Amino acid sequence: MADNSKLGFATRSIHAGAEPDPATGARSVPITQATAFVFKDADHAAALFSLEESGFIYSRLTNPTVSVFQERVASLEGGVGATCTASGHSAQLLALFALMEPGDDFVASNKLYGGSITQFGHTFKKFGWKVIFVDPIDPENFRKAVTPNTKAMFTESLANPGGVVCDIEKIAEIAHEAGVPLIVDNTLPSPALCRPFEFGADIVVHSTTKFISGHGNAMGGAVIDSGNFDWAQNDKFKGLAGSCGAYHGLNFHEKFGPMAFTMYGHAVGLRDLGPTMSPMNAYLSLTGAETLSLRMKKHADNALEVAKWLTTHSQVEWVSYAGLTDSPFYELARKYCPDGAGAVFTFGVKGGYKAGVKIVERCELFSHLANIGDTRSLITHPSSTTHRQLSEQQQISAGAGPEVVRLSIGLEDVEDIISDLDQALRA
Ligand SMILES: *Cc1c(COP(=O)(O)O)cnc(C)c1O
Repeated sequence: MADNSKLGFATRSIHAGAEPDPATGARSVPITQATAFVFKDADHAAALFSLEESGFIYSRLTNPTVSVFQERVASLEGGVGATCTASGHSAQLLALFALMEPGDDFVASNKLYGGSITQFGHTFKKFGWKVIFVDPIDPENFRKAVTPNTKAMFTESLANPGGVVCDIEKIAEIAHEAGVPLIVDNTLPSPALCRPFEFGADIVVHSTTKFISGHGNAMGGAVIDSGNFDWAQNDKFKGLAGSCGAYHGLNFHEKFGPMAFTMYGHAVGLRDLGPTMSPMNAYLSLTGAETLSLRMKKHADNALEVAKWLTTHSQVEWVSYAGLTDSPFYELARKYCPDGAGAVFTFGVKGGYKAGVKIVERCELFSHLANIGDTRSLITHPSSTTHRQLSEQQQISAGAGPEVVRLSIGLEDVEDIISDLDQALRA
């Protein structure tokens, strides 16, 4: 569909990027399970390789099924382009890879998915990239952490798992004053509930593994560019606005304008790092995306009901869900996620670590596993699983202390979800 920007969200969830297959008329997007694509002639091949023409060369860089999914997620976020990747973690790697050089730093929220804290704090060190973690609850903390080598700011819109809503608009302003882009991990609300570009964010990353795909059956990630950040406003972004040695001195910013960041993601990021999304996973994720707005509404409605019920339970110490009126993040949630504060939240159980472990073991409908964003309700005890690698202090500051239980509320009947938690809490 050529210009779909005026169509509604649900329509774009189903149609953006897709046409009936020109070869067969197939209405659902075919899975192009092919590694490479035939050139028309030698000139065509040369033009593709020098980025003079766009087209398919080799599926590490671009693939027809993956490309439809890229257009779909770019449209849903309101961006100009997207690069899809094998997982959410590789999307984070690709987003930062375009911006960072050895010796550079980026300022990140300390309320992130546990895996992101480990990726940023330990593994990225090997590239010479330094992360400076700050508490995002006061956006001024981002400003205080800026150094001359800062290249980006990074936060989650709704933080996993603490139920924290970040003030994206304020953090974006601070990032822009520092001359760097704000990258927002928008995995938890998905674009059905929150669209960070509307509040000044420059780049959105996703673990499409979670809600966008939505059925617990396909790993994937996406990096989406708003197209609004000027990479040539200062001399910080040499990869994007300098001459690229790997393409005979090509300057991505001059050549591709607002598509510079996305082109770099394919032509350098995927080409040289290689974390490509498979056509099969793109297909499953496209199918999932078709029902995104329906699913997110039901996820959020169920979550609110379960959260309200938990606040009345005698075995529950506290509930941290931004959709509850007494949450400190309620007002921010109304601003950034007016249609619901998502499906993932935490509560504190009386009895600490031991009680937390017992509840996850006693649940029957809830699956005890390390994932979120499935049709099925999921439960974890972060301090013994997803956040186990962190120190106790890091666990507490990430909202994953010993008494914390995390829920990802699914699409089952809410009465069944509640009765399962009730029997587990009583036991
Ligand atoms: C799961 C998750 C990731 C990592 O994504 P993978 O697809 O597992 O690599 C990043 N951020 C958030 C918020 C997540 O929930």
